[in-house]
Amino acid sequence: MIPKETVDLILDTARVEEVIGDFVTLKRRGSSYVACCPFHNEKTPSFHVTPSKGIYKCFGCGKAGSAVGFVMEYEHMTYPEALRYLAKKYNIEVQEEEESAEQIAARQRSESLLAVSEFARKFFSDQLQGGEGRAVGYQYYRKRNILDATIEKWSLGWAPSGKTTLVDAARAAGYKDEFLLAAGLAIQTEDSSLIDKFRERVMFPIHSVSGRVIAYSGRTLKADNPAKYVNSPETEIYIKSRNLMGIWFAKSEIARQDRCILVEGNVDVVMMHQMGITNVVASCGTSLTEEQVRLIGKFTQNVTIMYDGDKAGLHAAVRAISLILKEGMNPKVVFLPDGDDPDSYSQKHTQEEIRSFIEEHEEDGIAFKTRLLLEEAGEDPLKKANSINEIADTVADIPDAIKRQVYIGTVARQFGIEEDIIQDRVRKTREHNAQNAAKERAHSASANDAFSLAKNRADAPENASFADAPATAATAPELLSNEERILGPSERELLGFILRYGRNELKFETDSEFYDGETPQTVAEFIDSALAADDVHFVNAPYEATYQAYFGLYDEGKAQDDIIRALLNGEDRTVAEVAAQLSTERYELTVHNFSDALTTTDSWLVTYVPRAILVFHDKRVTARQNELTRKLREPNSPEDVIKFMQELGRLTEIKKNINRKLGRLKK
Ligand SMILES: [Zn+2]
Repeated sequence: MIPKETVDLILDTARVEEVIGDFVTLKRRGSSYVACCPFHNEKTPSFHVTPSKGIYKCFGCGKAGSAVGFVMEYEHMTYPEALRYLAKKYNIEVQEEEESAEQIAARQRSESLLAVSEFARKFFSDQLQGGEGRAVGYQYYRKRNILDATIEKWSLGWAPSGKTTLVDAARAAGYKDEFLLAAGLAIQTEDSSLIDKFRERVMFPIHSVSGRVIAYSGRTLKADNPAKYVNSPETEIYIKSRNLMGIWFAKSEIARQDRCILVEGNVDVVMMHQMGITNVVASCGTSLTEEQVRLIGKFTQNVTIMYDGDKAGLHAAVRAISLILKEGMNPKVVFLPDGDDPDSYSQKHTQEEIRSFIEEHEEDGIAFKTRLLLEEAGEDPLKKANSINEIADTVADIPDAIKRQVYIGTVARQFGIEEDIIQDRVRKTREHNAQNAAKERAHSASANDAFSLAKNRADAPENASFADAPATAATAPELLSNEERILGPSERELLGFILRYGRNELKFETDSEFYDGETPQTVAEFIDSALAADDVHFVNAPYEATYQAYFGLYDEGKAQDDIIRALLNGEDRTVAEVAAQLSTERYELTVHNFSDALTTTDSWLVTYVPRAILVFHDKRVTARQNELTRKLREPNSPEDVIKFMQELGRLTEIKKNINRKLGRLKK
């Protein structure tokens, strides 16, 4: 553990523009810097770095934080790793301190999972050397022409047929059941004893980007076993949608060649690498995900999809093309002849033959999709029209305008129609998509939200603003519950007051209903006691986490600036992002006249803070009303119906009351 004084020294020394400047080319603009965002694909810069505040933020994707946050995000480092990185950059010596029991436990848990996974890797490898493993597993690899060197490089192994062979060996070596289960290597039977997850299978380990074995794919050799592959479940160390089979062995070559070849099967990956074609990965037995595409995107923008040429393969390729295009990357496809897959093809050809085959036959992703749809449509005019629309919609997904334009031309030629037809459809689809996205946002941010949606736009490119950005990059709006959506803007507003004016005193007039004696409450205390009175918490997890973190520091007696700094530089990325976004937004009065009448911050806070609390209560009532209305649509007992109706009646009264109060505050 790094001592607190050293952490402070590191955070004080690190200059946000210097740290980010090591990764991204920053252009000066006034007192700040801009760049194309390293976290999302864009052509016009919306990534801003403000040295005076020590923060960065992207108006496009909403990512924001401090220097240490950037390193964590960009380099996928943990908080201590990022601190050590910065210490090294600034030549600050780090004398490690003893860790707390809790820290040791957390680190040990993840280490334990990796350790048991490593134990299993060695176990499965050893099993290949004798007995059943040698006779069955090794023979299989031999038959597939997988060489000993390849077996060793990939740690290919054998899971024996015994029910508890691995479990027994791991226990004997001192590994706890808990970790065998959590690493997905064992499963619990109904009588709660442990058995091996993988039995009688050849084993393909999956390595993380940093080269540790985090999961397995086990293939049965029995023709009658319906489960051809058994894969590791998601675990704390293995998130399927974010890993690619082979990425550890392929990443440097992908970057060097500036191209990645994407295949379907684990054996395909292994065989291509054995052939000497090493920029090859597969999607871990799931269909390709957005996160996997982004992972490739860290190393190259060019992806060649090399799937099977059967119907399922064609379908999967079309899907992959869309995903890759949406990320602003360049998909190509190539299909091997005569029903070959990369494995079987590589058995019959040399590396040079494969390379030249790919070079001669790879086809642009959109051109391929167009050709496929044209073939399917044949002479049917209706089908052809549908195909044109479908391709135009694919083109509409491409983020880059120039690339879109080029494709519109190519596609029109392929269909033999006027460019304008495609152009028109692309424009309409983009408008339609933009409207849908706006509707989605309107859901989560009410139109009369006191935190202005529009005011921040002045310096934000392409009409983006913070208020439009998601609460944190981690929370997509479509994942929010109805309640979270309704309460989001209000919670954001209250939290915004706390993060900007938490220690300002609310000096109510003596005749105000909020007047609370001689000693005025601060904004933070006022909001906290209003919430505590009703025993309510924020329902949006990022806001609640930030709220709790704030008051943890507030209760320690820290000054407002110190609290914000601690939140920005803290370990919790979600909290840091929310703090970065909300603490720097300006509160813009929605009613223009007020800004003339009310001059000092303190004087308008006494109006707007209570108002924000009332709006928050109003939203809570709305959320509850929606819930009750929904319940009433379901089958209910007569007693329940009466109960619900009575509550709805009470809520209506409460709402009226709130609105009366709001009306008074508005005058
Ligand atoms: Zn961005």
